[in-house]
Amino acid sequence: MTTTPDQAPLAIPGFTHLYSGKVRDLYVPDGREDELLLVASDRISAFDFALEPPIPDKGAVLTQLSLWWFEQLEDIVPNHVLSTEVPEVVAGRAVLVKRLDMVPVECVARAYLTGGGLREYAVSGTVSGLELPEGLVDGDRFDWPIFTPSTKAPEGEHDEPMSFEAVEEAVGAGLAADLRDLTTRILARGNEIAAERGILIADTKVEFGRDADGTLVLADEVLTPDSSRFWPADQWEPGHPQPSFDKEFVREWLMSAESGWDKASGEAPPPLPERVVEQTRAKYVEAYERLTGRTF
Ligand code: ATP
Ligand code: MG
Repeated sequence: MTTTPDQAPLAIPGFTHLYSGKVRDLYVPDGREDELLLVASDRISAFDFALEPPIPDKGAVLTQLSLWWFEQLEDIVPNHVLSTEVPEVVAGRAVLVKRLDMVPVECVARAYLTGGGLREYAVSGTVSGLELPEGLVDGDRFDWPIFTPSTKAPEGEHDEPMSFEAVEEAVGAGLAADLRDLTTRILARGNEIAAERGILIADTKVEFGRDADGTLVLADEVLTPDSSRFWPADQWEPGHPQPSFDKEFVREWLMSAESGWDKASGEAPPPLPERVVEQTRAKYVEAYERLTGRTF
């Protein structure tokens, strides 16, 4: 299985292409090895498959929303952003960032129990090995976000839940504690802000890296509909799956009879119909507009 995009990365004068992830293309500015141009594409992935077609404006929404959140979170953690002055071809969907030594852990925090966390809980009563009280149901809220890290799997492999002890072994006890504190505080603060705008952030994934001084810095993207589950607050009702603003919508279509796709087959999913593309774009834009109070 491959998650590499079909399209060759854009040629950008003055920059050398370094790497393409499922969503972002990374470039090194010529002569500035300690910086990166992080370009968010309109690609969308689900169940670790790159889907077709792309979602118009998705890269710009993710980039602009992350920039907004980085500012809101500045008193909790420094971030990797250096400048939003980027080449015209990627304007609006790219940022110039500090090139960091990335911590090899997907830092997940959950404010509500659902998704992969709920599935592990149903089997073992734990999430990422963390023991939870009995009797919790889909959509239940925790008093304070829980830290449920996972491995950063190599391309084509699935991220696996990681116990806190495994994180301590991988990166050391001090850094593990910092990752847990920062990740849960980011989600708690995110929810304080989002609640005023009618959105609940059920869970999120962040990535950290260390800069040349060894300082822990928030990288990649933050509190976007790609990295988080956003729920409309007025419809929250534990006990069943919640409606959402994020790509859960795409996952639901893929799992529906209409798509005709069998996840267990291991085959690539079918192309998204125009209606699903349009609605997904609308959900991303709505999440951006509701959270930031700006018009996209
Ligand atoms: P996913 O987001 O689902 O884990 P991915 O790794 O393929 O998958 P992309 O968002 O497409 O994600 O790629 C972005 C890549 O850039 C990631 O590998 C991320 O770790 C890396 N990255 C982000 N910010 C920085 C930074 N400041 N310095 C170095 N690498 C970074
Ligand atoms: Mg990513």
